[in-house]
Amino acid sequence: MDNHCIFCQIIRGERPADFLYEDDSLVVFKDIRPHAPVHLLIVPKKHIRSVNDLTEEDSPILSEMIMRAKEIAKEQAISGSGYRLLFNIERGGGQVIFHLHMHLMGGW
Ligand code: 5GP
Ligand code: ZN
Repeated sequence: MDNHCIFCQIIRGERPADFLYEDDSLVVFKDIRPHAPVHLLIVPKKHIRSVNDLTEEDSPILSEMIMRAKEIAKEQAISGSGYRLLFNIERGGGQVIFHLHMHLMGGW
């Protein structure tokens, strides 16, 4: 946990967010500035800076993130029309929040 991290604050309930899902290892909430009709963020509870900082022991959370994205896409009825799963990595890759997250974008 990082006290100054916006996503850690959301996970701890110290900052509001529109949650769609929570379990022991991850949360899903709406992106505050959506770039698609459905734009969700899939966020592990563990504070990991970016894909670059993943270690072997983080492998299970990655598969949980993708499996959860698939389920939520189904619930949101965007599976058939299609969606994007996206990681921005470090500043050159467009990352602005340095707590690992995967964008789920669709509904076009
Ligand atoms: P990045 O560019 O780091 O991959 O994406 C960060 C995303 O987090 C952006 O799409 C941005 O709109 C979203 N975001 C930034 N601050 C907040 C916030 O306080 N609440 C929510 N729900 N989303 C945020
Ligand atoms: Zn964090």
